[in-house]
Amino acid sequence: MSGHERAFINQAFESNWIAPYGEHIDGFELELTTYLNPNYFVTTLNSGTSAIHLALLLLGVTNGDEVLCQTNTFIASVNPVTYCGATPIFVDSEPDSWNICPKQLEIAISDRIKLGKAPKAIIAVHLYGMPYNVDEINKIAETYKIPVIEDSAEALGSSYKTKKCGTLGTLSTLSFNGNKIITTSAGGALITKDIQLKQKAVLLANQAREHSTEYLHNQIGYNYRMSNVLAGIGRGQLQVIQKRVEARRAIYNIYKEELGSIEEIEFQNEAESSYSNRWLTCVLLPKVSDKEGLRLLLEQHNIESKPLWKPMHQQPVFKNLKSYINGVSDKLFSRGLCLPSGSNLTQEEQFRVISVIKNYFSS
Ligand SMILES: *Cc1c(COP(=O)(O)O)cnc(C)c1O
Repeated sequence: MSGHERAFINQAFESNWIAPYGEHIDGFELELTTYLNPNYFVTTLNSGTSAIHLALLLLGVTNGDEVLCQTNTFIASVNPVTYCGATPIFVDSEPDSWNICPKQLEIAISDRIKLGKAPKAIIAVHLYGMPYNVDEINKIAETYKIPVIEDSAEALGSSYKTKKCGTLGTLSTLSFNGNKIITTSAGGALITKDIQLKQKAVLLANQAREHSTEYLHNQIGYNYRMSNVLAGIGRGQLQVIQKRVEARRAIYNIYKEELGSIEEIEFQNEAESSYSNRWLTCVLLPKVSDKEGLRLLLEQHNIESKPLWKPMHQQPVFKNLKSYINGVSDKLFSRGLCLPSGSNLTQEEQFRVISVIKNYFSS
């Protein structure tokens, strides 16, 4: 927490709006809009997963459809496809951004079309806060007229050229889960340029209850709204977003400077067009055995590190699904490690982590 949240929570309690309605919801949505781009509309929700689910529903994804998904991601990007009765088809990453590869995407689209299965949507992810190759992906999407869901769960505070992540897809989503760069403990948001889509999202998130004194429902809805109390936490958090981004970028820069000289350690590269919030600093280690070797040595020093997200095409639950693979995410997963990157990591703590890593490679 930043210290700004409690005043908003107190306000919610004093006004007795402990509900998924109230001034903090309106305030948080407006402040997010102002932060991202005043031409967009934000709908706050109870999770980033709900936001992706609603995005798919708004695009008309339904039973039997196929959706092309970045394989290199956390499973929340993909699970909602199955909630719609649709099938995820996985697409591998490019080596620089670690995100969806334009070449593989185009191969996948052509192949699906040839099989009579034109994809209904593309889910692209700014993994670890690093923007995907937005221009290339959008160009392909426009050529084939397929909408893009921009999963910006990890990338609030990142941008591509002059635009903020969260405003780069046909529909875009955010997460405010506890592990993200700002949090409401649990929460998410859907972002659109189209006021009518926002109205539809609000309706679906509220059990599809129509404006009527009777409890009238014309379609199936969901209970996906955000609480006014949590929106208050979000308003307090949003005040410090830029500080958080700067802290995380500084952490990345120190790791890069201190570890960059160790032979063959690689980092996720920021293209000229990209500005990453560096949500997590991840390193690609020289050998497969280093991943577990270094993780265990760090653990012995009471330092937690974690493997990268295991790609979706490697997940047992998705083992029968088609994927378009070039080896990049397999390589990343086999040799990658996420290093301590929290906004509150002190320099002293970070140098303790760095010295353990240096020792590992010098012995
Ligand atoms: C966290 C996350 C989500 C989902 O967010 P929740 O709010 O936890 O439901 C989606 N995609 C990615 C890449 C994430 O990291």
